[in-house]
Amino acid sequence: MSQVVVVGGGLVGCLLAVYLARRGHRVLVFERHEDPRADRISGVRRPSINLTLCERGLAALEAVGVRDQVLRLAVPALGRRIHAPDGHVTYQPYGNRGEAIQSISRRELNAALMDFASAEPNVSVHFQQKCVQVDFDRPSATFEDARTSETSEVEAECIFGADGAHSALRSHLQKTDRFDYSQQYWTQGYRELTMPPAGPMRWPLAEDSLHIWPRGGYMLIGFANHDHSFSCALHLPFEGENSHQSIRTEAGLMEFMRAAFPDAVGLIPNLAAEFFAARANSMLTVRSKPWHHGDEALLIGDAAHAILPSYGQGANAGFEDCLLLDGCLEKHKHDRRAAFQEYEASRRPSMDAMADLCIEHFAELRDRVADPAFLRQKAIERRLNELHPDLYEPLYSMISFTRRPYLDAVRVERRQQEVVARLLEMDRIEERVDTPEVRQMLEDAARGSDGGVAE
Ligand SMILES: Cc1cc2nc3c(=O)[nH]c(=O)nc-3n(C[C@H](O)[C@H](O)[C@H](O)COP(=O)(O)OP(=O)(O)OC[C@H]3O[C@@H](n4cnc5c(N)ncnc54)[C@H](O)[C@@H]3O)c2cc1C
Repeated sequence: MSQVVVVGGGLVGCLLAVYLARRGHRVLVFERHEDPRADRISGVRRPSINLTLCERGLAALEAVGVRDQVLRLAVPALGRRIHAPDGHVTYQPYGNRGEAIQSISRRELNAALMDFASAEPNVSVHFQQKCVQVDFDRPSATFEDARTSETSEVEAECIFGADGAHSALRSHLQKTDRFDYSQQYWTQGYRELTMPPAGPMRWPLAEDSLHIWPRGGYMLIGFANHDHSFSCALHLPFEGENSHQSIRTEAGLMEFMRAAFPDAVGLIPNLAAEFFAARANSMLTVRSKPWHHGDEALLIGDAAHAILPSYGQGANAGFEDCLLLDGCLEKHKHDRRAAFQEYEASRRPSMDAMADLCIEHFAELRDRVADPAFLRQKAIERRLNELHPDLYEPLYSMISFTRRPYLDAVRVERRQQEVVARLLEMDRIEERVDTPEVRQMLEDAARGSDGGVAE
C-alpha cells in the first residue's frame, strides 16, 4: 500500500483523504490545529461561519456515500430575503422549481468530514502538526508539533496540499522554477455575529432563506442553523466611514447598527461583545500555476484557487476538485503525472473564470440586490427561465444547481445577458417575454452555445 500525505485537515483535506483511501493508499493527514471535534467533548460551541452547499459539493459527498449524513446537519434555503432599510422584505427564490442550497456551519461540517476520514481504516490524522518544510525530490514534508516544537520528517509517494488559502505547500512551490502566484485581498472584511433561537425550537427569522441587508458600501448576511440560531456575517470596509476601523466604541457600534439594520439589531443580543471579540476577517482571491509538481505534489481546494464567497462556491469547488481528480486518477491508474496534468488542464480555466466572476458578483451583492433596476432584471430572467427553461438558465442556477463546468456556465451567461440587455431596452417587455420574437432571440443566442458537457 503506497503512502501519501495530505497537508491540512480542513474541509477539502478530509474529503480528499476519504477518496485517496478508497483508491487503496495509506493516507496520513496532518492538521496544524487541534481536532475540530473537540467542541463535542467540551460542550462549548465555538462560533463558526456558515457555508452553503449546492449540487457540486453534494455530488462529491454522494460519490463517497456521505451526502445524507451531511444534509442532516444543514438547513435548506430556497431563496434570498432582502431586508430594506425601512424593514420591507422582498423574497427572491433561487430557482423556479423549488431548488435549494444547504446552509451548514463550517465547523460542524469539518467535524463531520473528520469523522468520515477517521472512519477509513487506512487513514490516520495527526493534529497540531504544522507543515514547515517540503522536499519535492524525496518527496517528504516536515511537521512541527505545536505542543513540543519538535519536528519530524515524513516521506511519502505524493504530498497533497489541502492547507487552504495561505498554504505552506504552495509557499514552497513558489520557490520552484516558473511557478506563478498572485493574491488579491477584497476591500472589505467580515465579523461573525449570532442570532440565537427566538424561543424553544423557534428561529428568529424565516429559516427557508438566506437573509441579506444590502446597504451600498456594506451588508449583513444571515444563515440558518439546525439548532434554530442564525449565523451572521457583517461585511464592512476595512477603512473609511462606517468601517471596521471607524467603529471603535459600543455606543458607536449600536448607533451604526440601529441606523443601518434596524430590524436585525434586536435579534443579536451579544452584538458588541461579538463585534469587539476579534479583529475583522479578510477574504482573498488566490491564483497559482501549476497546481502540481511532477507526480510528487498537488495543490487542491483553496490552496490552489481561493475565491471570494459571493457565489458560495469555495468549498463546493474544493469538493468537486476531489471528484474530478478521482476521475483522472481512475483514468490514468498507472501514471499519476498524466492524471494531475489532465485534471489541471480541464479544471484551471473554470477556476480562473470563477475567480473573476466572484469578484464582480461580490460588488453586485453588496451594492445592487436592493436596486429596482437590478430586481427588474432578475424578475425578467426568472420569467424567461419559467417560459423557456430549455433556452434560458440563470447563471446562479447553472452554478448552484448543475455540474456544468463553471467556464461553460460563464460563457452561456454572457450570451444570455446580451439578450436580456436588449430586452430591457424594449417597451413594456414584461408583457412581451412570452412572444415568439423573444423565443427566437434566445434560440439565436443558444446556437452560439458550447453545450453543457460536465468536466
Ligand atoms: C465568509 C466566508 C463565507 C464562505 N461561504 C462559502 C459558501 O457559502 N460555500 C462554499 O462552498 N464556500 C464558502 N466559503 C469558502 C470555504 O470556506 C473555503 O473554500 C473552504 O473552507 C476551503 O476548504 P480547504 O479545505 O481548501 O481550506 P481550509 O478550509 O482553509 O482548510 C485548510 C486546513 O489546512 C490547515 N492548515 C493550514 N496551514 C497548515 C500547515 N502549514 N500545516 C498543516 N495544516 C495546515 C488549516 O488549519 C485548515 O484546517 C466561504 C469562505 C468565507 C471566508
